[in-house]
Amino acid sequence: MEEHWEEALRCASGCTRCGREMGREDPRIFSVYDHQPICPECKKKEEQRPDYAEVSKRMIGQCMTDIELTMKDPGGYCFHHFYPYRCA
Ligand SMILES: [Zn+2]
Repeated sequence: MEEHWEEALRCASGCTRCGREMGREDPRIFSVYDHQPICPECKKKEEQRPDYAEVSKRMIGQCMTDIELTMKDPGGYCFHHFYPYRCA
């Protein structure tokens, strides 16, 4: 699991997928494919991908396993692959 995920998500100043600028108060969310911060529009496109259900299921399984092993950061990192993060 990424150690500084919250900082990475909070500090992302642009979408890593489409390059759109993200202001401090714009919601951002992790991709289940590469765990990079993306904008909600790109998340919607990601959700349309034919393998999204399978990839997200595998990702959440791995994420929950990591949390159980490390006992670190219950919920947050995995959660923000599915629910937008807001800085403010
Ligand atoms: Zn985007």
